Amino acid sequence: MKEKITAIILAGGSGKRMGGTEKKQYMLLAGKPLLYYALKTFQESCVDEIILVANEQEYCRRELIEPYAFDKVRNIVAGGKERMDSVYAGLLAAKGCSYVLIHDGARPFCTLEMIEASIAAVQKYQACAVGAPAKDTIKIADDHNFAIQTPRRSAVWQMQTPQTFSYPLIFSAYQEICQKRPEGITDDAMAIEYGQDVKVKLILGSYANIKITTPEDMTIAEALLRIRQKN
Ligand code: C5P
Repeated sequence: MKEKITAIILAGGSGKRMGGTEKKQYMLLAGKPLLYYALKTFQESCVDEIILVANEQEYCRRELIEPYAFDKVRNIVAGGKERMDSVYAGLLAAKGCSYVLIHDGARPFCTLEMIEASIAAVQKYQACAVGAPAKDTIKIADDHNFAIQTPRRSAVWQMQTPQTFSYPLIFSAYQEICQKRPEGITDDAMAIEYGQDVKVKLILGSYANIKITTPEDMTIAEALLRIRQKN
């Protein structure tokens, strides 16, 4: 039987760090809501279906799914208080798949190559996450911002999404996380590190696969989009 592959695209956040009144996932990038770009890439990929986690369900249907014929979007489910709650809501809606890719809707520059590499890696390792080696030296600071440690730079990666897992593995990880609610779970690989006996394979994404978080990221995204459209 063919293994079913589902993508969960997260757009359930409040986007507070962006400031302003409009949620960042719907801000216009070259005339289209930011969330359009991730949806388009996953629609064109080999994934079988998409679960969108968003609270503005009517808006998403009217402005994104219908006009652009994103017919792989099988369900739109409401997000939760924390990112972990939104992921869990997506996972409940994705029941029955073999593998699940979890992607931040606020990352418009994910590529088909990243999705394909993630699927190949998850079939081998059960868990993988896209990221890139840090370019800067990273310091660990104490509570008063004094540097106390410097991890070896070649061993430090900055994590991106998609992060991809065998469904039963990530579902049990999030069941535990959502029950125990440890602080500071900022990505899905960390949910696995927390209580599962599986190592997450890191695979190379791209320095362009940025997450739009603060206003200057939109300026960078406009420039990256121009480069992408030229190629
Ligand atoms: O807050 P952060 O930048 O880490 O959010 C990453 C992604 O998770 C964004 O696409 C955001 O919309 C989503 N998110 C969510 N539900 C939350 C918080 C964040 O779906 N409660």
